[in-house]
Amino acid sequence: MLLEVSNLSVSANAKKILANLNLNINKGEVHTIMGPNGTGKSTLANVISGKDGYDITDGSIKLSSKDLSQIPSDERARLGIFMSFQHPIEIPGVSWNSFLKASINSVRKEQGKEDIAPVDFMKELKEKAELLKIDFKLLKREVNHGFSGGEKKKFEILQMLLLKPKLAILDEIDSGLDVDALKIIAKNINDFRSKENSIIIITHYNRLLDYVIPDFVHIFSSGTIAKSGDKNLAKQVEDQGYDDFK
Ligand code: ADP
Ligand code: MG
Repeated sequence: MLLEVSNLSVSANAKKILANLNLNINKGEVHTIMGPNGTGKSTLANVISGKDGYDITDGSIKLSSKDLSQIPSDERARLGIFMSFQHPIEIPGVSWNSFLKASINSVRKEQGKEDIAPVDFMKELKEKAELLKIDFKLLKREVNHGFSGGEKKKFEILQMLLLKPKLAILDEIDSGLDVDALKIIAKNINDFRSKENSIIIITHYNRLLDYVIPDFVHIFSSGTIAKSGDKNLAKQVEDQGYDDFK
């Protein structure tokens, strides 16, 4: 089992957000999480990746049987957890080039590898940027500063391709994308998908799922998974809405 979320209950600022949530993910699986706004989907993503500000009041999160409760977010990233943000952050004064290189090297360090050679870095960066149809000029600009919504989302996927996480959590990666960008992003998620990694896709739309077919679909309601199924469950939601799952 790659990820084991057991009986997880989470609060923030005295608000109970997640309640008795169970989710098991094996290596090689793609899981989609859907559900109405405010049901705790992003909170789950945040607590798996170790964001501060949440109280875990019950239950546990394990990655490859290792309890994550005492492990800070940067360490979790080095262990192979990657999360793309619903609202990607800006980092003034830091270029994408240097940010991406530092991220790669920090993961390599954890794996006992030397820093990536600058020429290898540039080669891989260009190769992956090309796959995503990212203009190379953007790599010299400050992280997300003045970027369009679509550009920001492509850079989230670029990070995933470069960092090669064991577990990628993509929170609304498809929101606000035009259809061409959606197809490019979906293609790259599909190409990244392998027996060696697992992906959680949080989405409101079936559009992305037409391209990236999930192994499991989970419907969130009031801070927990109300129903799980396969891709047909997503179709059912599209036709009938969420009323049946409340
Ligand atoms: P979703 O991603 O499903 O739309 P979220 O996980 O973002 O939902 O939020 C779930 C609920 O928890 C919302 O009502 C939100 O306002 C609340 N919430 C999230 N973070 C905090 C926080 N830090 N403090 C208080 N309430 C929060
Ligand atoms: Mg959300």
